[in-house]
Order: sequence, then C-alpha cells, then structure tokens
Amino acid sequence: MINLYGFTLGELGEFLIANDYKKFNATQIFDWMYVKKARTFEEMSNLSKDLRAFLSVACAIDLLTVKQHQQSADGTHKFLFGLHDGYAIETVLMTQDYGMSLCVSSQVGCNMGCSFCASGLKKKSRDLTSDELVAQVMTVEKECGIKVTHLVVMGTGEPFDNYDNVIRFVQIVNDAKGLAIGQRHITVSTCGIVPKILAYADEPVRSNLAISLHAPNDDLRTKIMKINKKYPLDEIIEACKIYFDKTSRRITFEYLLLNGVNDSLALADQLSDLIRGLNAYVNLIPYNHVSEFSYQRTDMTRAMQFYDRLIKRGIAATLRKEQGGDIDAACGQLRLKTEE
Ligand code: SAH
Repeated sequence: MINLYGFTLGELGEFLIANDYKKFNATQIFDWMYVKKARTFEEMSNLSKDLRAFLSVACAIDLLTVKQHQQSADGTHKFLFGLHDGYAIETVLMTQDYGMSLCVSSQVGCNMGCSFCASGLKKKSRDLTSDELVAQVMTVEKECGIKVTHLVVMGTGEPFDNYDNVIRFVQIVNDAKGLAIGQRHITVSTCGIVPKILAYADEPVRSNLAISLHAPNDDLRTKIMKINKKYPLDEIIEACKIYFDKTSRRITFEYLLLNGVNDSLALADQLSDLIRGLNAYVNLIPYNHVSEFSYQRTDMTRAMQFYDRLIKRGIAATLRKEQGGDIDAACGQLRLKTEE
C-alpha cells in the first residue's frame, strides 16, 4: 500500500500517469486530502469510479495511531503516535499568540548524542518517511480540530540526517494546493550537518533554518555536542555565510543556557564575535531538565545578563519561553517514557 501523504503534488501526478490516469487528477486528490480532509477515496466524488477503485486497492491515506494524548496546563498537547511497524514517536502542538505551531519528529530516536538532550538517549532505529512526517500534521489537525499554521522540525531526530524525506515533507506541506503552510512559517533545526546546510541553500522550496549552536568555541562545543568533532564551528559559520549569500534568509542560532557551562558573559562576547556580520539572530533557550543529566538551568537573572550582553554587542536575540514542561513536552525532553 502506498500512503499518498508521502507524495509531492508532482510525484502524485507522475504516479497517476504511470497508471494510465491523468495528471490533473493529482490536484483533485490533493484538494480532497488536504483541503477537504477526506478520510476515504469513496468520498472523492469528482474522481471517476474507476480511479477511486484503483486508489482503494493500491493506496492509502493513513493517519498515525494515537497511543497517548496529553494536554498541559498552558494548552500544549503532546502526542505519542504508533507507526505501522510498532515504533512510536512524539509530536507536540503549541498554542501561540500567532497561531498553532506543531513540533514534528524526523526520526525514531537520534544518533547525534548531544550530552543534554533526552531524545538522543535512544539511538536511531530508523528515519521517518515523508508520509509519516505529513501524517503527524494531519493526525493532530484531526484530533484537535485545528489548523496547523506553523511547523518546526525540532522533535526527536536530526532532520538533516534524514534529508530527502524532510525536504519532501517541506514541499508537501508548503504546496499552495494542499496545506499551504508558508515557507516562512516552517523552521528546520539542525545540529550543524555542514554538507546539508549547503545543499539546503540550493533547494527550490526552503524553510527557515535554525542551527543548534550552544557553544561559541570548539573545545566547549565538542564537549557538549559530539557532532562538533565532525563539523567544527569554522565550517558551520562558513556554510552559514554561503547559505545567506545564496538565499538572503536570516539564520537562527539556538543557544541553550546551561548553568556554569556556557552562560558566562565572556562566552556571550565570544558568541557575538563568532556570528557578527552573519545577519543571524540568537534564540536563547532555557534548559529543560532531563533526569539522566546533571546540567542545571541558568537562572533568569543570568539569562537576562547574557541576553543584554548580546544586544549590547549588536547581536539580535530572543529569550524563548518554555511550554509543556509539566508533560515533558518541552525542547529536549521528548523521548518515549511509556516504552521504558
Ligand atoms: N536535531 C535537531 C532538532 C531537534 S532539537 C537540532 O539539534 O537542532 C531542538 C532544539 O532543542 C535543539 O536546539 C536542541 O539542542 C534543543 N534541546 C535539546 N535538549 C534540550 C533541553 N534539555 N532543554 C532545552 N533545549 C534542548
């Protein structure tokens, strides 16, 4: 069975032509799937009986199985979804003042091994397919009766370690004939896979790009993020320059504040020097507790001092507010507690 959520509009057209149907049927089917939210091929009343019969036999439009749905006091929803082969993933919906923002997972587990992140406690079992990425959006929209307006690929997994499926996903959800989520409403976050940052600069459809930096020098960054051994900071910064030259899109650097580790004002100065002139901005993230690790969150006073220092040095910055901490749905807390 082919899950049609995995096809871009172009790919669906090719698939239909290869099976002796018409390319324009793809637009009709996209409309049924993403605008009218059809759950069966039978409902697709403007398709020929023959095409509907073919689709029913060869294809599916399967949502994910909801194994658990938790709601936080601040309106954050966390889902545990079952996949067809028994694996499970987590997806988080956040109510923001600008809309409904969905945080999707890109892999089952993660191999990046960042020393502060719960998602990496389980090694990667496999990549998610593009239909599983899209189905996270479709299943949450149905369960919550809402329209997802913003997407962040910041759940479990490293999106640039599953590049092709993530690119296809961005294309599918961005398509004006489908969910039509704008490129600027989609953010892909990477720990810094340099060749893929460069590749992303050349994609016709691209989203906002966020890079998890978390340290302004190689010694410290390698200590807390082992990927830095493979792709050190000078290569990341060079890739960001090329990315900006090609796309004119501002990059976000995420910087997790870990008490006594990376939050000194001297490091704020180093960070400013590192990214000056890049037209980037820094998103400071409060550390969310993970019981296996001994890191502590930087207190608010110090976080504000770090923030002020960046601003004083001419670096644009924001301090991210935490959501969903009471249900372990905040950044870096996603992992499969129910399976343990
Ligand atoms: N692998 C990708 C996307 C997933 S993580 C990446 O590394 O960017 C999304 C963000 O949450 C990253 O910036 C990550 O470093 C951060 N994060 C990880 N653990 C965290 C924790 N315990 N508290 C707060 N943020 C965390």
